[in-house]
Amino acid sequence: MAQHTEKISIEKAKTSKIDTVDFNNLDFGRLFTDHMFVCDYEDGKWQTPKVIPYQAMSYEPSARVFHYGQAVFEGMKAYKGDDGKVFLFRPKENFDRINKSSNRLAMPSFPENYFFEGLEALLNLDSDWIKPGIGNSLYLRPFVIATEPAISASPANNYRFMIICSPAQSYYNSPVRVLIAEEFSRSADGGVGFAKAAGNYAAQFYPTSLAQEKGFQQIIWTDASTHSFLEEAGTMNVFFRIDDTLITAPTSDRILDGITRKSMLQLAEDLGITCEVRRVTVDEIKAAAKEGRLKEIFGTGTAAVISIISAFEHKEELFEIPEIEDSYAKLFKKTLLDIQHNLSEDKHGWRHEVK
Ligand SMILES: *Cc1c(COP(=O)(O)O)cnc(C)c1O
Repeated sequence: MAQHTEKISIEKAKTSKIDTVDFNNLDFGRLFTDHMFVCDYEDGKWQTPKVIPYQAMSYEPSARVFHYGQAVFEGMKAYKGDDGKVFLFRPKENFDRINKSSNRLAMPSFPENYFFEGLEALLNLDSDWIKPGIGNSLYLRPFVIATEPAISASPANNYRFMIICSPAQSYYNSPVRVLIAEEFSRSADGGVGFAKAAGNYAAQFYPTSLAQEKGFQQIIWTDASTHSFLEEAGTMNVFFRIDDTLITAPTSDRILDGITRKSMLQLAEDLGITCEVRRVTVDEIKAAAKEGRLKEIFGTGTAAVISIISAFEHKEELFEIPEIEDSYAKLFKKTLLDIQHNLSEDKHGWRHEVK
């Protein structure tokens, strides 16, 4: 392994935009903090990382990312406790995953110390953008793009790793209605479904827009070959509750290994809730719904934590899932948010304090 010991260079923004921001009215992902983290890969190695003012970048039209989609990203959050301490949630998982995603797209791994030192430098500079209070957070978007100006179809020699930050508000996300995929697929065996590859998202937009025209907000993706196994909900992992048992599909090269999903599995164990990790069929869920045994469906992911699914449609048959009193989704959401915001014991060591 190459040694990465250079210090991060820091250029502070001359003025801060923070006074122009209405933190009670944030439109998710549209507004960014004063600084960003940048590190270029050139001459076969990652160069000295920098934190610089948030700004536009310019690249040649031939930059490879525009043509062949070598682009991967992560989504993580920083939280502030009432005592002003700043925490990340299981950041090593994001670090490992961005490299897994990069490697699948023939892109180089990023060094661990650069990732953590970069986050720390950035969060220290932009700490005022993280508001305390449950639900408030700073959404962090690490990403990597191929910057080399050359359009021959091969992996690039030059890349840029970046982190940008967007304040996110405590928001109540309303339940969503979903369509179960019968024709389109998100991913296939041997493909890139497990990677947070930008192109996975591009490919979902069109089928999702068709679902939206029919009055559904999201699609529950099924396996590409038979469309009979339920895999993910939109860009979230998905859980089903039949009677008092939770069921979620095992991760694979088609299903993204979500950190929220992984945390839910552990919380279920802690709370004494039976959770089965196994393949789950559309027929099984429809049968359970008809018998009145399907109590909940919810998606899990960093951005919304938990998104409750209130109805689904498959082969023109519509199923409503009435809200219940003792919702696992609500219990999990509260339990997880309390851990993230340093309001409860962190017995698994998930919180990472940013010093
Ligand atoms: C990011 C993502 C998730 C959720 O992962 P978390 O680590 O929980 O945020 C689930 N499915 C897909 C397809 C994703 O891209």
